[in-house]
This record gives sequence, C-alpha cells and structure tokens, in this order.
Amino acid sequence: MIVVMAPNAKSEHTDSVINRLKKEGFEVHLSQGVSRTIIGIIGDKTRLTGLALEAMSSVEKVVPILRPFKLAGRDFKPEDSTVEVTPDVKFGGKKIHVIAGPCAVEGENQLMEIAKEVKASGATLLRGGAFKPRTSPYSFQGMEEEGLKILAAARQETGLPIVTEVMDVRNIPLVARYADLLQVGARNMQNFFLLKELGRIQKPILLKRGASATIEEWILAAEYIMSEGNHNVILCERGIRTFETYTRNTLDLSAVPAAKNLSHLPVVVDPSHGTGKWSLVAPMARAAIAAGADGLMIETHCRPEEALSDGQQSLTPENFSETMKQMQDLASVMGREL
Ligand code: PEP
Ligand code: MN
Repeated sequence: MIVVMAPNAKSEHTDSVINRLKKEGFEVHLSQGVSRTIIGIIGDKTRLTGLALEAMSSVEKVVPILRPFKLAGRDFKPEDSTVEVTPDVKFGGKKIHVIAGPCAVEGENQLMEIAKEVKASGATLLRGGAFKPRTSPYSFQGMEEEGLKILAAARQETGLPIVTEVMDVRNIPLVARYADLLQVGARNMQNFFLLKELGRIQKPILLKRGASATIEEWILAAEYIMSEGNHNVILCERGIRTFETYTRNTLDLSAVPAAKNLSHLPVVVDPSHGTGKWSLVAPMARAAIAAGADGLMIETHCRPEEALSDGQQSLTPENFSETMKQMQDLASVMGREL
C-alpha cells in the first residue's frame, strides 16, 4: 500500500503518519517528490484498515500496489533514482555513463593499455572480469584476486572507477574490497542468496537481466537486493534468448522504456553481449541512447583477435573512439550529456 499525502501536507503531518505506521509495526519508505510526498508501507496490509489513515486531512488517499515489486517500483517512488558509484559518477541523471574495457582481465599490460585508451575516448568507468562465468568449465575462468589487483592498479593509473562481476556469495567481501560497482551477471540474476547478500552491503550493484528473464522477473531480482537495505541498484539489459541465432542474443531495447515505466532505477544497455558481433555494437549503442538508456557497457580490447574471451564482440580502441563520438552526437539530440 502507499499513502499519498495531500499537496498542502506539511512535514509534521507526514511525520505523524509515519510515526503511527511505525508504532503499528509497519516498515515505511518515504519518497519526497517535488509536488507530492508518498509513503510506502511494507507489512501485513490487513492490519491497515483499523488505522483509518484516510480520515486524516493531510492524507489524500491510501492505495494498494498492484505490482509485485514495491521498493523498485514507480508507485512507491515516482521520481527517477540516481545511483552514485563515486561522487563524479552518478547513474540516472543527465549524464550518460560509458563502462568500457575487456571482457576479462588477462594481465597487467593488457588492462593498462586498454584502460588508458577508453579513458582518452571518454569512458567514465572501467570494466574487466576477474571471475568469469564461462559456458564451458574448460574455458578461461578469470584471474580471480590477481585480476582484481590489476583492476585496482588501472583505477589508480586512470582514475576510472572499476566494475567487475561477483559470482558467489563467498567472494562478496573480496570483490567489494576492490570494485566500485559490483556486477551480477545474467546467469546469476535469480541467484536469490547472492542477491540478498548483496542487499546487505552498501556498494552499488549492476544487475544484468537474465537471458530468459521477463522484465518483471528482472525488477523483482532488483527488489531482492533492495529489500535487504541496499537501494543502489542499476539495471542492465544485455539481450535475451530467442529463436534468432545470427546474433548471440536478441538485444531487447524495448526493455529500456518498459523498465523505466515500471521502475525508477537507472537502466544501462550492453550491446556487446546483446549482439555478440562488434559490427553491431555502435548502431545498437546509438539506439540504446535513443531509447533512453542511462549508460552503456561496451567490451573493448586492443587486439580483439587475441582476446581470451569475447574477442568477436569487442571494439578496438579506434572503433570505440568512433562509437563514442556517434553516441555523443546522439546524446545531445536527446538532451543528455555523454
Ligand atoms: C560480462 O559482462 O562479462 C558477462 C559475462 O555478461 P553477461 O552476464 O551479460 O553474460
Ligand atoms: Mn564478455
């Protein structure tokens, strides 16, 4: 349920509604917009009837939430959320952030070289997998802690905050010690134990959409993290499994406005995993901006033909720089910055 306060309600009125709800054992989530204050109520709604909140003149109405998600939903919080990774890097505002870097950290020279290139072209975050969720157990699985140390060294060198995947609850403390933004991969989107544990830290989480997850399931996965107290969640569309095999996945760009209609969380698009082909990355990156994305995740490698994973979808520094220019042009048409 949500309580919509009357337009002229003062903060003391809101406080008295909140106090009343808390006294009855409800958990309360306050959303203060420019024109309206909304109080979200979590708890046994059958106990609400006795409270007669609508009898208070400062309360306009009490309405049920029909959607399955609460904290992640627009009903609870109508305004867009911004998620801060560092004081200079906030997702969900006017600025569109670009996360770039290789699929996997392969070594110090490889990462340093590409980190400097993407920074020079305007990327604002550096990515690189240290724990890799590979389809085959015989494929390169990542450099693990050594990879995290290399990421931290690249951050030191370039100033770019780092994004890397956490695959297992046992590795959360380790990954959180190094990463500025922790990624939950598509394969783990419904690993509910992992999501809940990530809800108990305060670092921001980039939540990729599962390859066969509906938009509602994806937002419910965000709800799992938020329900444990961590509201710093960024959604990432990375393509879904369809009958099409020409592309690695089918990038579902309609998910961007759809997720934004349903949720106040920022939405990022990953056209690299979304298409699996480097030549499709730039057009889909532009399309993502046109669809309203708050950020992009783009795989880049100085020598894609030598990459240990996902070389076929990685941009060279030259292609990345050109893609950035095209995205900047489009961002300004859309009234955004990049
Ligand atoms: C990745 O970003 O490195 C990755 C493995 O992506 P996804 O989980 O979307 O497949
Ligand atoms: Mn990859």
